[in-house]
Amino acid sequence: MWASSGPETVRVARWYVDAGALSLYYAFADSGDRAMLPPVRRQWLFVVLVGAAISCRPGAASSPAVIATAAPSASVSASGGASVKPSGTTPLLPPASAVPLDRELFAAAQAEVAAALRDLEELVNIDSGTGDADGLAKVGALLTARLSEVGARVDMTSAAPSVGSTITGSLRGSGTRDVLLMIHFDTVFAPGEAGRRPFRREGTRLFGPGVADAKGGAAILLHALAIAKRRGITGYRTLSVLFSPDEEKGSPGSRDAIGRLASSQDDVLSYEPPDGERVIVATNGIGQVELVVKGRSAHAGAAPEQGRNAALELAHQVLRLDHLGDPAKGTTVNWTVLASGERINIIPDLARATADLRYSDPSELNRVEHDAQQLTREHLVPDTQVSVTVIDRRPPFAKNPASERLATLATRVYLGLDRELGTVAARYGTDAGYAYRAGRARPAVLEGLGIVGGGLHTSDEWADAGSIGPRLYLTLKLIELLGNAPD
Ligand SMILES: [Zn+2]
Repeated sequence: MWASSGPETVRVARWYVDAGALSLYYAFADSGDRAMLPPVRRQWLFVVLVGAAISCRPGAASSPAVIATAAPSASVSASGGASVKPSGTTPLLPPASAVPLDRELFAAAQAEVAAALRDLEELVNIDSGTGDADGLAKVGALLTARLSEVGARVDMTSAAPSVGSTITGSLRGSGTRDVLLMIHFDTVFAPGEAGRRPFRREGTRLFGPGVADAKGGAAILLHALAIAKRRGITGYRTLSVLFSPDEEKGSPGSRDAIGRLASSQDDVLSYEPPDGERVIVATNGIGQVELVVKGRSAHAGAAPEQGRNAALELAHQVLRLDHLGDPAKGTTVNWTVLASGERINIIPDLARATADLRYSDPSELNRVEHDAQQLTREHLVPDTQVSVTVIDRRPPFAKNPASERLATLATRVYLGLDRELGTVAARYGTDAGYAYRAGRARPAVLEGLGIVGGGLHTSDEWADAGSIGPRLYLTLKLIELLGNAPD
């Protein structure tokens, strides 16, 4: 404690007031309620408050108490909501490393928000669930019209076996590197959903099917291109765009197109929605575990002993296979679909179960299959056959240095706006998994450039209109910085 008396007491009291103000400031900052923050850079406030505290306190040594209060908030929190898991923290960058604010460009981005919102409203009000041929065609028409308006060469290729087309656009510039912006335009919702709950706005919150996932991202992508055209931003060798129509079903018809186009790029930016001011540096791979049991049918009343109940054996195996996941490796296995039996009076001879599998380490696919096969050797119902297989549906976008570098660049652009940007590893899987090539430096992939939102795949889905302007600016700065970056 500080020894104090007379005027010293006043100075010490002021020091505590300053330290208290600093703690309160960071308490608000941690609450995530950005509206309560004054629009100044946190680091400068930190410097000013610490400076004031030091000048008022007796003695010259800096106060460990203040540093300790500020330190946890001084690194960007990487914790997420239900859809994300922490990926570690992003170290706070010194203000000097901020990409200087381009005021005119930011003003242009803010001025574009109204037009982006108009397109977002139109996009949300067209149902385009995966497989909805009509809706996907209508949304596709809007996307291609916008691409044509910015002078892009547009191509549409069938996404068979999925319904709809993969849409690509490309622009030629004067820079040295190839950049791809991509997002999907299908949603998880059935026809009629947009009619039941059309686009609506409450304050800065936007609602409607697909408003965040991922029509908000599509609107940001398109309107960043509109600004780039108007302002003559062409500092890339090529700027490509890809819209996929089947991401919500694992992209069976667009994954090859994504992989091919991405493999020729230096950088790939994907516009899925983050759940806060963050970008996504890794996503999970997705697979499924298929369990099939064959037994023997029999009359359930007259001769049940002659049957071999496949449903009973399936139940036994599902219980045995309930711990295939490995929390330490981020692998989860959850049994979600079970089916057996057609009539009450027949012992079923067939039963199937499917588990949802999420992983970040590709070697986990073999490990899960091997463990499952070992476990299913022991049967409850004799003479039943049990088979278990693991199917890989979408590869992970694994943590890697190139993506971390892109995330750092994005963070520096946000620092120029006096904003913080965190990084997360998402638990869900996205098309970034098809763009990313394990073990190769190119392309560098960054996910989560889309509109900030949450409640994905539910009727509570929302998006933050306030994130559109900064994210338009972020896209434009990244195109500028990446298009001419040295190799
Ligand atoms: Zn999505």
